[in-house]
Amino acid sequence: MSEDQAAPTSPIAGGLAATVVAACRSCGVAPPRPFLSLGSTPIANRLVRADALAAPDPAVPLEGGFCETCTLVQLTHELPAEEIFDADYPYFSSYSDYLVKHSEKHVIELIDQRRLGPGSLAVEVASNDGYLLKAFIDRGIDVLGIEPTPGPAAAARAAGVPTREEFFGAEMARRLVAEGIRADVIIANNVMAHVPDLNSFVEGLAILLADDGVVSVENPGIGPLLEHTEFDTIYHEHFCYFSTTAVEALMRRHGLRLVDVQQFPEIHGGTLRWRMQRADTGTDTPTPEVARVLAAEQAAGLTTFERYETFAGDVATVQRELVELLTSLAADGRTIAGYAAAAKGATLLNSSGVDHSLVSYIVDRNVHKQDKYVPGARIPILDPAVLLERQPDYLLLLAWNVKTEIMAQQAEYARRGGRFIVPVPHPVVL
Ligand SMILES: [Zn+2]
Repeated sequence: MSEDQAAPTSPIAGGLAATVVAACRSCGVAPPRPFLSLGSTPIANRLVRADALAAPDPAVPLEGGFCETCTLVQLTHELPAEEIFDADYPYFSSYSDYLVKHSEKHVIELIDQRRLGPGSLAVEVASNDGYLLKAFIDRGIDVLGIEPTPGPAAAARAAGVPTREEFFGAEMARRLVAEGIRADVIIANNVMAHVPDLNSFVEGLAILLADDGVVSVENPGIGPLLEHTEFDTIYHEHFCYFSTTAVEALMRRHGLRLVDVQQFPEIHGGTLRWRMQRADTGTDTPTPEVARVLAAEQAAGLTTFERYETFAGDVATVQRELVELLTSLAADGRTIAGYAAAAKGATLLNSSGVDHSLVSYIVDRNVHKQDKYVPGARIPILDPAVLLERQPDYLLLLAWNVKTEIMAQQAEYARRGGRFIVPVPHPVVL
């Protein structure tokens, strides 16, 4: 968000300063209208080291708002980006086999549909360790990665993927164009929700795109989030929650035309892929899916405030049911552990008021997370090996988006009588 949109900052616990979003991050017309408060919660990914337990975790209001002008759902408070993406930000280097296949299939489709070949350029924004761009390189297409975090950028370069270590925006796009760089394909997956200056980001896409090039953006959609009450995917690191309606309006303001929408219900709780071309020079005819999805969103109420108020009621129900379930199990002497110290777990636990007294510990395969604590709830994070040593009666799946994989990995725990609790869309024991 730009300086002129920012309200005065207000100090909060621990010296962090949250900014109240004074105007919609997309259209800038008016502040988002609040519909859901998840309380004041710590930064979800800022795990607490054992030697830092004496100090309280700084907390910031976590509240969802709806823009009544352009329909974009967004948080009503924000932290400076450097507070979120600080040096302690967990580094995720591994991807599920499923996501790698999904990405490779997309690359092959793009090469085929756009007739890419020698001389074509594919750019990825937030290219991480370059695994997607490698699929282009393997097929003889030139690539450029843009990745602001040093670890993944270095890993990408080591793997032979040209990568610039920068935040992407209009200014960077102008510099690239001045160097003679234009992209036939720009891919931006799971990054748009994290972008502090959304308009500069989209303007940059439009600047960098070749005349008949295509931009492909993937992000979890607000429609599936509402439908499955995935409120735990709301946390400070995610500034915005996109519908196709909101994306179309955002892109149109920057001279980009939506030409296709695809839906992947099985990825991150429900992912959408939007494809855009330059409105002035692009030659694609929009697919029938564009009009169909826009109409479906209107029919589902995604364009009205009332739908979001209903969602807030659904969230309160899930939170109450979860606490009742865990409390009654604990009262019966059952032991409960959690699986995966994901950011969404922090939102679920902290906004529902579940702490160490109900969930004894959380296991996670990421060694960088082990021996730390979930912020706020202060639940210790341990190696998954302890599950078979301690055999807790129940395992609360905090990464429900990969529940099938987790349950398959923990088949021995289940064989010995362990049960799984899936928290959303309604808490159930499996
Ligand atoms: Zn707006």
